[in-house]
Amino acid sequence: MSVVTKNFISTNDRDRRITDRLNEIFALATGKRWSDIHFESLEDGSAEVRVRIRGRLKQLEIIHPDDAKLLINKLRYRANLDVSDTRHEQDGRFVQEFEGRRIDVRLNIVHTNFGYSAVVRLLDSANAGIPIEKLQMPEGIEAAFRWGLSQREGAVLNAGPTGSGKTTTLYAGLNSKNTEDTKIVTAEDPVEYILKRIQQIPVGEGTGRTFSSALRAMMRQDPDVILVGEIRDAETASIAMRAGMTGHLVMASIHANSSLETYSRLQDLGLPKHIIGASVRLFIAQRVVKTVCPHCRQKASVALPEVFNDSGVEVPGWEWVGSGCESCDETGYDDRMAIFEAIKMTRPFRDALGDEQAMEAAARLQPQYQTLRTAGCNLIVSGETNSLEIDRALSEGLAG
Ligand SMILES: [Zn+2]
Repeated sequence: MSVVTKNFISTNDRDRRITDRLNEIFALATGKRWSDIHFESLEDGSAEVRVRIRGRLKQLEIIHPDDAKLLINKLRYRANLDVSDTRHEQDGRFVQEFEGRRIDVRLNIVHTNFGYSAVVRLLDSANAGIPIEKLQMPEGIEAAFRWGLSQREGAVLNAGPTGSGKTTTLYAGLNSKNTEDTKIVTAEDPVEYILKRIQQIPVGEGTGRTFSSALRAMMRQDPDVILVGEIRDAETASIAMRAGMTGHLVMASIHANSSLETYSRLQDLGLPKHIIGASVRLFIAQRVVKTVCPHCRQKASVALPEVFNDSGVEVPGWEWVGSGCESCDETGYDDRMAIFEAIKMTRPFRDALGDEQAMEAAARLQPQYQTLRTAGCNLIVSGETNSLEIDRALSEGLAG
């Protein structure tokens, strides 16, 4: 991804208005940490600009039809995409700089009946470098994570749906291992953040590589640490687990609802109990939850007391609800944080593998273990979030 310019540049008077406006939109989005910008053609030839603010889309403006055509080409130029191609889906990336911050931009364009739908995802490269202590893990879970990462060999698996912050957690782990004496190779679909000194292999559509073929290639690279973006097929699961038994630390994310479910998922992928027991060192699961805005929060009775069922946490007398204010863009929520659960592959847990109840009992013997529900309910009690948000986060399905 070689990029010469750091911003949109106008080449004549006619396009100055739209390049200025694009630079303003990107600066605004970067400053406010919006995650996505959507540019969509409307029936009259104009384009609607919508931005995703704290999870919800909001209209920013309508671009005049004269500028709407220029806009899509400016985006394509930035991402080195063919401007004459109006039939195929296009994927590209570029770097935008704003006040010294470097933002990796991913662009996807599909052609629609009225023109185009171009979606831009903004990835703040500061996220790629976050240290483990910034993950806000409970102390016991952070200690378990560090323990997992300190293993000479074995697998650390992180489960959760898309958008649950798995990548951020794994990158934080990777950063902690990123020293001169350690060779790190990753397979990612796609490579989201560029990491210094780490050999990152893009896999998936358009790369001609799958996770399993990349993993096989990585094994010939004399690696110490391997990151597998996602274990989603039997072959990848098998190579990754075997790598964890032959002198490599393997980190991977996997689609499963909980740490305990990760075990069933690995079995579904054809891995026998003894391989899982010998390779996995740590199971993590996580969700991202929104935190209530401190500027507009009000006490309210607990909206969904049933969220506390089976959590072992007592339903509190009240919870915070944000009524919406300027500071939180009227959403009532201010920030995001993750909730975690972690299970170490201890001797008792290994002995219990395959027996769901025994596994849960063995997990409960570990001091850091709490279910995601319990972790979420604790956050309601401590005033970080509320039952509506925990209910949403926990019921988030695993699509695909
Ligand atoms: Zn607010």
